[in-house]
Amino acid sequence: MTSEGLSSSDLQVKRAQSEKPPKGSVIMSGARSTGRYHIGNYFGAIKNWLELQKEYFGFYGVMDWHAMTSSYKTPHDVQHFARDNYAELIAWGLDPEKNVVFIQSRVPEHVELYTFFSMITPLGWLERVPTWKDAEQEAKDNDTHNLGRLGYPALQAADIAIYRATHVPIGHDQVSHLELSREIVRRFNFLYGGSIPEPRPIFTETPTLLGSDGRKMSKSYGNTFYLTQEEDELKQNLRKMPTDPARVRRTDPGEPTKCPVYSYHKLFSKPEDLPWVEEGCRTAGIGCGDCKGKLGENINALVAKPREKKKELLQHADTLDSIIADGCRRARKHARETMEQIKEWTGFLSGSGEF
Ligand code: SF4
Repeated sequence: MTSEGLSSSDLQVKRAQSEKPPKGSVIMSGARSTGRYHIGNYFGAIKNWLELQKEYFGFYGVMDWHAMTSSYKTPHDVQHFARDNYAELIAWGLDPEKNVVFIQSRVPEHVELYTFFSMITPLGWLERVPTWKDAEQEAKDNDTHNLGRLGYPALQAADIAIYRATHVPIGHDQVSHLELSREIVRRFNFLYGGSIPEPRPIFTETPTLLGSDGRKMSKSYGNTFYLTQEEDELKQNLRKMPTDPARVRRTDPGEPTKCPVYSYHKLFSKPEDLPWVEEGCRTAGIGCGDCKGKLGENINALVAKPREKKKELLQHADTLDSIIADGCRRARKHARETMEQIKEWTGFLSGSGEF
């Protein structure tokens, strides 16, 4: 440990901070299918994936087993959202031919490797993960204090290792998870003489997002701001959004930095619209209705096309099914190759196991 309280491997992750992945790097990322995508999924993941695919080959997963750790009571919903999420990723422009886009449970090798990893992962490693420690009481309260949730980071490690991915886009708050994946892979390689790459981080910006009521966005508050809302739904949600309380009357000046509407403008609006909001708000030159109207226009301009494309995909079930099947088949091909290699290193019988 250093004077900063960092382990040497933490430091390696920190040093990698400014590194641009070299050509030929393989990216792996995914998002849980616990519900419709909201703006957090877009700004925290999808937007980054769309950028990354311009330069790198990647595996992008709709992670339904991960969704089950907290949504195990509603597996049908998890599957419904898996399909919805997959359609949405394609609608936003994630290219299913250039990348491999899959649904986690359709590639059973994830779970096979997870079983292996769960044997070699000391319990103490999992117990010290901050998201487990911090949310332990909450998990007890809402009935999600289960083995799957504790083992979640080992499944994450398997998700990355099964594709021998070299890089994972993460926010700065996810360093401990990636560090654990690296440690599990390192231990595996050490024990069995393997050569699975230790995944490195690509640090991405994850803006703090407020819900439509100005509080932290959370399903339990019912303030989730969905990504491909219909125009009417969008207008309605914006109308309900709170503003700077100082603006009681139209003529009262306000302070945009105290207003959640402004925080959305910073995400969705063109840079040239921001001075209009800032000055108009501070001088009472614009009303909150005008301000929300402009925001609605800008959000709609971004989401209109993906919203229509997603609807079209969901309406043409056969086309969507064949894109999903093809993505999962290609994912399995890579995953099986890794498992074959792993079985060779560990002396397990190779082959499909069918007699
Ligand atoms: S004018 Fe815009 S930024 Fe200012 S308080 Fe109203 S909604 Fe918020």
